[in-house]
Amino acid sequence: MGDGGDSVIGPVDPMQVPRFAGPATYARLPALDAVGKAEVAILGVPFDSGVVYRPGARFGPAAIRSGSRMLRPFNAWTEAEPFAQQVADAGDVACTPFGIEQAIGEIEAAAKATYERASHVMAIGGDHTIALPLLRAASKRFGPLALVHFDAHLDTWNTYFGGARYTHGTPFRRAAEEGLLDLQRSLHVGTRGPQFSAQDLPDDAALGFRLIDGRAIDDRGAASIASEIREVVGDAHVYLSLDIDVLDPAFAPGTGTPEAGGWSSREAIAVIRGLGGLRLAGADVVEVAPAYDHAEVTAIAAANIVYELLCLFSLTKAGG
Ligand code: MN
Ligand code: MN
Repeated sequence: MGDGGDSVIGPVDPMQVPRFAGPATYARLPALDAVGKAEVAILGVPFDSGVVYRPGARFGPAAIRSGSRMLRPFNAWTEAEPFAQQVADAGDVACTPFGIEQAIGEIEAAAKATYERASHVMAIGGDHTIALPLLRAASKRFGPLALVHFDAHLDTWNTYFGGARYTHGTPFRRAAEEGLLDLQRSLHVGTRGPQFSAQDLPDDAALGFRLIDGRAIDDRGAASIASEIREVVGDAHVYLSLDIDVLDPAFAPGTGTPEAGGWSSREAIAVIRGLGGLRLAGADVVEVAPAYDHAEVTAIAAANIVYELLCLFSLTKAGG
């Protein structure tokens, strides 16, 4: 799989084809089927049967792709050229909306098949349930992974509604139980909002996760947060999972479980830009639910966050 060069096919040229036309792929990149193999594959996961509040994230992949039409190939602020290596759109997983465990199996199989054709998978969701099968596939490839989890919520609760174990509020407890994570090097970032009880944070810490809660952006700023993340994960292979509700509802209204008092899109992008050098193995951006969005506010934020993650993939060599 290439490190760049003449054979790389980039986005459709906006000087030839207007941005409102052309393919509906992420950033108008080629389809993975058209290029065969890629360094990074964008994989849509249109699944939202695991939500506890607003449904609609099944339409997230299409919304993020639509919000990505303005992206340009040079990141002047990190000097990354994310499309200088082959990035391609693998399309959407055909996952059933009728059975969560069946869908999890389908997503895991599709992610594994995508890792046969790409060094890294950049998934676009879909609700946060999908992080579990994506982590299963990524850890099969890279071994137990350091997790960097941006979210208003912990997503390490045990069960919902009389024993439901596979939901968008439980993926990282299941991942920890399944041994998919390097828990010495895993953390939540941006956590905020009310908890069920005083026991939630200690229960999460007992699993091994560290926490940089949402207040840190005011207390010490993006550069310090990024520095602590880099320190915690060290040189481990990293899986980065970003729930768009880490942003304030002012910046991401189109999501399933909004919480007041979150980060701006500028703050989230600043933190991600501070993560250059991470050995990024795989990533997802989840919980975009466009029915509650306005003027593509959420979709554009998510598309730009995916872009910044693609820049991280291009800045680091995660090593196969
Ligand atoms: Mn959340
Ligand atoms: Mn979440």
